Amino acid sequence: MTSHKLEWDTPMYRLAVAQLDQTAARMQLDENIWERLRTPQRALVVSFPFRRDNYQEVDTVFGYRVQHLLTMGPTKGGIRYDEDVSLGETTALAMWMTWKCALIGLPFGGAKGGVRISPRSFSQNELQRITRRFTSEIIEMIGPDRDIPAPDLGTNEQTMAWMMDTYSQQTGHAVPGVVTGKPVEIGGSLGRRDATGRGVVTCVIEACRHLGIALEGARMAVQGYGQVGSAAARIAASLGARVIAVSDLDGGVHDPHGLDLAQIDACMRESGSLKDFSGGERLTNAELLELPCDVLVPAAIQNQITAGNAERLRCRIVAEGANGPTTLEADEILRRRGIFVVPDILANAGGVTVSYFEWVQDAQQFFWTEEEVNTRLIQIMQRAFTEVLKVSQEKGVDLRTAAMMRGIHRVAEAKRRRGVFP
Ligand code: GLU
Repeated sequence: MTSHKLEWDTPMYRLAVAQLDQTAARMQLDENIWERLRTPQRALVVSFPFRRDNYQEVDTVFGYRVQHLLTMGPTKGGIRYDEDVSLGETTALAMWMTWKCALIGLPFGGAKGGVRISPRSFSQNELQRITRRFTSEIIEMIGPDRDIPAPDLGTNEQTMAWMMDTYSQQTGHAVPGVVTGKPVEIGGSLGRRDATGRGVVTCVIEACRHLGIALEGARMAVQGYGQVGSAAARIAASLGARVIAVSDLDGGVHDPHGLDLAQIDACMRESGSLKDFSGGERLTNAELLELPCDVLVPAAIQNQITAGNAERLRCRIVAEGANGPTTLEADEILRRRGIFVVPDILANAGGVTVSYFEWVQDAQQFFWTEEEVNTRLIQIMQRAFTEVLKVSQEKGVDLRTAAMMRGIHRVAEAKRRRGVFP
């Protein structure tokens, strides 16, 4: 196995590779395929100039696009805007996209992109300029048959609209299928906005059923009230769960009797932060993770459940809305403590699943109703959950290992069939 220092070697990349190594050893994966899967097939690093609104300063911005695996079809994965994003982080996330797509059975390999900025400190005009320039910089890598970006941390429908427009300007005609997670007016799919949250809740329902926990009245704590966390909270509450805590970057609010989510949404619309919400007790993001509850949904960022707090978690189920929220050491502790973890590559796969629906609808120019989207999404998520649970029971492994085994097995079979060129 490759042991010298690699360009993308960072803690998050090491976590992704350690998960791969553990799973590959367990499933006695062919060593040649194993080695190939440890590094991405393509990685592009760009730096580009960007003019602030005052027209005085020109900053240099760094961006990344990594394609982990080209075997399965075009590559697929989000673009994140975050001040800590790096080549290593992007690579880890691209690898997780590979397992996620393969596990669900989508015809994509994994990819991810990132721009190293703090999006909250820029105006809309500035974000638009950054997005358009970044799109131009990676334009050779993307395309509806090549690599299809989507939103991730710090990006949204509007970001995708600018990307689609920039790509289409260069091509000379509208190319909606170059990105997913677009606004519906330009070829986006109904149901995409809530898809990740809906997928998380589908997994929570299945996990509760498996463990004999009633969803009605189940206490749920949600870290991160962005596109994923807010949808998961709302959908779970509509099904009878009691959302007792939610948080954003500035911390969270807690009410053991259940929070009024409509009021929270109103507060978010008005001030953009939970800071100003008065209908609950304030708590920190770290405190939220340790609240006694039935279901904990980390839906913010990576590296939240660690060896430092895993012993203190007081939930029965962890459903990972975020990518990589749990470290390898914490995973081990949760397993020992009997906490049921629905891993990111399964729990948050609803997003890329509806992205796939969006890409298919764009290619066919034939659009589905929201009900069709949601019904198919739920069916796919239920089936994936059941299959992963079955593997975990048969092999005596946790759900993360089982999910990875399924994903890696699909990829390995495809690689074996295609062979090595030349
Ligand atoms: N960024 C999301 C994820 O991590 C969605 C990716 C996509 O829809 O392509 O799964």
